[in-house]
Amino acid sequence: MYTVRAASRRVKLSSISGRSITAASKTKTVTNEESFSKVVPYLAVAGLTLGLSSTQLIERDEKTECSIFGGSNVEDAIKETEDKFSTYWPRNIMILFGPPGAGKGTHGPKIENMLGIPQLSTGDMLRAAVSAQTEVGKKAQAVMKAGGLVSDEIVVGIIRDRITEEDCKFGFILDGFPRTLVQAKALDAMLADEGACVTKVIELQVPDQVLEERICGRWIHKKSGRSYHIKFAPPKSMKLNADGQLAVESMVDDETGEELMQRADDTSSALVKRLSGYHLETVPILSHYQGHGVVKEVNANQGMDSVWSEVLGSLSRK
Ligand code: AMP
Repeated sequence: MYTVRAASRRVKLSSISGRSITAASKTKTVTNEESFSKVVPYLAVAGLTLGLSSTQLIERDEKTECSIFGGSNVEDAIKETEDKFSTYWPRNIMILFGPPGAGKGTHGPKIENMLGIPQLSTGDMLRAAVSAQTEVGKKAQAVMKAGGLVSDEIVVGIIRDRITEEDCKFGFILDGFPRTLVQAKALDAMLADEGACVTKVIELQVPDQVLEERICGRWIHKKSGRSYHIKFAPPKSMKLNADGQLAVESMVDDETGEELMQRADDTSSALVKRLSGYHLETVPILSHYQGHGVVKEVNANQGMDSVWSEVLGSLSRK
């Protein structure tokens, strides 16, 4: 757990408003690490603005709660800094690129936590639409089950709306979009409207022959999106029947005990179609962005920790 402190001294907010304030007069509590991680980037920036080093702002604590110490002026400073960033600084716009089963759903949430920008998965959004049987869901259902691509018009519309939401104001991580050159160009055009562009494409590289085992052994906890694998990451409860076959009823989520499911398109036959679509329609997007110098390759056919350290390297400017 963390404690965030603004040092108890007068600091001049010259770069914000020229006011002088006394920090460290009040305590604000953030109840869990998740919400805390969301404010860390702003606190770090506000700390710079306040003339405080990050060590004065952030340090580890044994307490069970995350506490932010600071006067209401500190909160104002954070808000002003946040507004300034979302108005004048470019958004960080990343594409997590790779075939089905490459690890986008595994590493995306880690990038999300680290940078405080959301992962936008068109696959998850479409699956939610299918579950809710919305108009879009009804249109997408059959083509998704067969491993085909939903129309560009539908997915571009979904992303166009989603990236205007508040949580995307500092940027976002695209997962599963763009999947065609038409989608990439539509994305570029909607970003160009605000003078923005894609800042990074992280390509997770895995040979096709490895993907079938990854995809066909994958089980998912629908509510949380937690992902398991019968060989590489089995749930604690997993059992085999006397005949050596998987006991399906033993496939339950480690945390909630709720049943796990397999995606309708995580089958060998759908995978053939998904992979051919990936090579034919999605891979050409790489050359489209290569000229911009933003594409970074990651060997995703190695242990998870090694993949993550390569992902970190690809995110770094150094
Ligand atoms: P995913 O979870 O990314 O593997 O996506 C699951 C399925 O949703 C895909 O096989 C497609 O049918 C559909 N889908 C997701 N994103 C897109 C997209 N950008 N364009 C077209 N279809 C998509």
